[in-house]
Amino acid sequence: MKRWIFDFFNLLYPQLCAGCESPLSTGENLVCTTCHAHLPLTNFHETSDEKMRELFFARIDVLHVTSLLYYEKIGTVQHMMHELKYRGREEISTYLGSWLAADLKNHSGFQEVDLVIPVPVHSKRLQKRGYNQVSGFGKELAVVLGARFRESVLIKTRNTINQAKLNQTKRSDETQSPYELAQNIPEGSHVLLVDDVVTTGTTLVLCARELLKIPGVKISIATMAISV
Ligand SMILES: [Zn+2]
Repeated sequence: MKRWIFDFFNLLYPQLCAGCESPLSTGENLVCTTCHAHLPLTNFHETSDEKMRELFFARIDVLHVTSLLYYEKIGTVQHMMHELKYRGREEISTYLGSWLAADLKNHSGFQEVDLVIPVPVHSKRLQKRGYNQVSGFGKELAVVLGARFRESVLIKTRNTINQAKLNQTKRSDETQSPYELAQNIPEGSHVLLVDDVVTTGTTLVLCARELLKIPGVKISIATMAISV
């Protein structure tokens, strides 16, 4: 599109920043320069991923774990997640995926990934939203890591899950999983499981356990954000 046409349409229907809702200027993509500069990057893959490790290492066998951003209940990242999940702004998923992918390009551990699999959304939710909010993120990572993106390996069989209740009982991880393996993957595959925000880690643990039923499967995890 020619620049003047873009400017004209932008004047009539300004694109808003996914982080703060201010109108975007020419050259800004999805988030404004200020939000982009202030997004709270974890840099886990470069420094330490202790917080992620604490969530998973005692519960499942995982190789590499990382998260792009810190998530707070109020703030830019929360706003972006809300826009992504409830306002149809699917492009946020791709945006965050390409950002993390650029960071992981030279990480030898993540380079060994064979398959990228997103945490599934229940079919009713998928119908309503029109997309799995993690798919764009996963696809970007798959391209850069030279892996295959497989969206339908896992399915969610129950629409709602009472996370608080789940966490009350230790055995709940095993007994109440709403996730099931719907397709086979090659034995020994190294899978990168991807999700939006990790809080208790239970969702990812349950998904990983399904995949670990296949002999020799190795699991790594990457999320858009981690709750602080
Ligand atoms: Zn902004």
